[in-house]
Amino acid sequence: MTATSPRYLLKKIIKIVVCIITTCTGYQRFCRSRINEKGLMILTYHSIGNIVEPDEAVTPEEFEKQLQYIKENYKVIPLEEAVEYLQTDIEKISGSVVITFDDGYSDNYHSAYPLLKKHDFPATIFLVNDFINTDGDKYLSAVQIREMEKNNISFGSHTITHRTLSSLTSEEIVKEVRDSKIALESQLGQKINSFAYPVGSRVDFNEEIVEIVKKSKYTCACSNMYGINNKNADIFSLKRIGIETSDNFFVFKKKLNGALNILSLKDTKYFQILKRIFF
Ligand SMILES: [Zn+2]
Repeated sequence: MTATSPRYLLKKIIKIVVCIITTCTGYQRFCRSRINEKGLMILTYHSIGNIVEPDEAVTPEEFEKQLQYIKENYKVIPLEEAVEYLQTDIEKISGSVVITFDDGYSDNYHSAYPLLKKHDFPATIFLVNDFINTDGDKYLSAVQIREMEKNNISFGSHTITHRTLSSLTSEEIVKEVRDSKIALESQLGQKINSFAYPVGSRVDFNEEIVEIVKKSKYTCACSNMYGINNKNADIFSLKRIGIETSDNFFVFKKKLNGALNILSLKDTKYFQILKRIFF
């Protein structure tokens, strides 16, 4: 799917239409009030540039516009702080935003980091062990990671190889989850407390995998299930809001205001059952 393919354009149009419908029907206003009262939003970015998979890159210009909007309307807090308050005092962080990046692209250092620093925003980057220092300049180097760590950027694990965990044996899962933490801590000389499931939709991890994450002594784990987190949120399957290439600025603002929270339905059990029946 390229930026001019029919599938991409259709996706873009559908998002705009859904935003207009949910705004006109009052659904967005309802979601907005829930976010303000008792909801935490965790954003997922991948590349801030042009490398990568279709629909996973945001240009530095768009990213700067988005950060400016976030600055004017929300408080940005570190993931670790968010998790702590989710369990103790959600009111304190309701309406706040956490910024995360998956996969550890080097443009997170070249393009995102200077902008985050400019706005004094914390962020968390989920690293894949086998990607660090590889593929020319595509992924982050250990030196870049260490520099960012000193300036408000924390790091979590995104496994050793980025394979979908639900397709692996128990031994392989333990290696991907536990050994990734141990190796990152020794390579980078810092504590790794958070984890993000590769791909991360409801079918990509299960109870056994969550147990292994807990046993490996992570303090929280992020999924890519769409939605906001309330005080009953499971801190080992935190929901996130993915920001994609096909989100124009209108859709981005609407996403942060709850207009696309309807997407959380796709991660419910019933939707998964229907999907299996019809596809
Ligand atoms: Zn990933």
